[in-house]
Amino acid sequence: MNRAINFNAGPAALPLPALERAAHELVDFAGTGMSVMEHSHRGKDYEKVHNEALALVRELLAIPDSHTVLFLQGGASQQFAMVPMNLLARGRSADYVLTGAWGEKAFAEAQTVAALVGGSVRVAASTGEGDGKEKAYRRVPRAGEVKVDPYAAYVHLTSNETIHGVEFGVTPEGAFPDAGKIPIVCDMSSDFLWRKFDVARFGLAYAGAQKNVGPSGIVVVIARKDLIAAAPAGIPKIFQYKTHADNNSLYNTPPTFSVYMVRNVLDWLKSQGGLAWMEAENRKKAERLYGAIDAHADFFRCPVEKASRSVMNVVFRLPSEALEERFVAEAKKQNMIGLKGHRSVGGIRVSTYNAVSLAWIDTLVAFMNEFVRTA
Ligand code: PMP
Repeated sequence: MNRAINFNAGPAALPLPALERAAHELVDFAGTGMSVMEHSHRGKDYEKVHNEALALVRELLAIPDSHTVLFLQGGASQQFAMVPMNLLARGRSADYVLTGAWGEKAFAEAQTVAALVGGSVRVAASTGEGDGKEKAYRRVPRAGEVKVDPYAAYVHLTSNETIHGVEFGVTPEGAFPDAGKIPIVCDMSSDFLWRKFDVARFGLAYAGAQKNVGPSGIVVVIARKDLIAAAPAGIPKIFQYKTHADNNSLYNTPPTFSVYMVRNVLDWLKSQGGLAWMEAENRKKAERLYGAIDAHADFFRCPVEKASRSVMNVVFRLPSEALEERFVAEAKKQNMIGLKGHRSVGGIRVSTYNAVSLAWIDTLVAFMNEFVRTA
């Protein structure tokens, strides 16, 4: 078997042991004579997997009792709408911090919901540069740059901008802003579960699974119980967080196979040493990659300021688009895929999620050094 060295941005590489475990029990799950996909979501065999997956999220992040964990569908994109539906009541306002394209999308969707419910949304800070439609983003806000409205219903951040490679909290200078008593809502889709974070600081955090925690089809939501209990009346039941919280994320049929895979991935993560181990690995990966970029600063150029450089999505440019195309093509010949930057920004993007090993990064770094030498 020739597994690809997979730097895809999402869906992305999954840990081989998690996949092999699924392969092993695909047609006969836990001796039940059928796959986990063929089980009723109300049966005890599935329920055990479901509860194990939820418990692993709680355990890995040491989630306090004040917060609930939910498995939802509809992608992180659905959360862009569900957050304001549940947290923005008539006459209230919410703040958005924009550090890239996904935050822009979350803001646009919140504007639509705000118009429907009679609330409003505001940009509390944006690091976008340029007047065009496609702004450049090269950093998170500096300390004191985010002016949170003291009456805001919440302030929304994107902890890691997958396209622009801009991440909060990687260095002390790029820390999450202090929002005081205002709940922080955070899109953690592309940097969930690579490091510990203080869950108590967040009103709500959500993450599409397909980067660090499993396949697509499932979104992990961590929410403060009192916050979601106070949602405005009149929201369709399926879009209320409370519905899912009250039903252990089994209000309707969940994506059972995706949940099962999340269980396998998180069980692997725990067995490797949990988030302390994972963070150390990920920081080593990022150091080696940015080290190679900076060592050839006349050839590779990372547009992101050092304090905001993402540990999960490393973006950089080469001297020309022709060289970038050649870089991607030659890497592919060496079994390395997924290196093309997002179509909106171009360049190269290396997604270094949890399942991307240090050995894969070393292979890529060797390729980069050789590419510079021979270009
Ligand atoms: N937020 C971020 C930070 C993302 O990277 C993505 C997907 N790349 C999304 C939201 C949208 O996720 P989905 O496609 O699951 O709706």
